[in-house]
Amino acid sequence: MYCYPVAPPNESEWSELRSRARSATQRSYAPYSGVRVGAAGLSDNGTVVEGSNIENASYGLTLCAECSLVSDLVRTGGGRLVAISIVAGDHAPISPCGRCRQVLYEHGGAELLLDAGEGLAPKRLAELLPDAFGPEDLPTRKDS
Ligand SMILES: [Zn+2]
Repeated sequence: MYCYPVAPPNESEWSELRSRARSATQRSYAPYSGVRVGAAGLSDNGTVVEGSNIENASYGLTLCAECSLVSDLVRTGGGRLVAISIVAGDHAPISPCGRCRQVLYEHGGAELLLDAGEGLAPKRLAELLPDAFGPEDLPTRKDS
């Protein structure tokens, strides 16, 4: 059983994460899709990190808000993500894409909590990425 170094967010703290994620949508660069995305996450050292999507004319090189958030996490000293709110420009929660589920797993693990919206129970990352492959799998899969 995973133990949180810090308590999971209460409703007030979820509200703060949601608000910061909504604010981060204003700093996104989304001229192609028109879908602005912002994310705010709480790390186990109490730091709140943020990210915004950054699109690219090549489309495939677009950085999702979650990638931007993980960059902010590592850049500001790291820690493990405990909770994250991801919203679109309409301020409603938006689900992370497949790549970002894997990126979030690396920095938050199966117990990372994802905001489902006001009054709704957050989801565990394990629900979105069951049977995930992670850093703990590498030592057991190396050739001698
Ligand atoms: Zn993504």
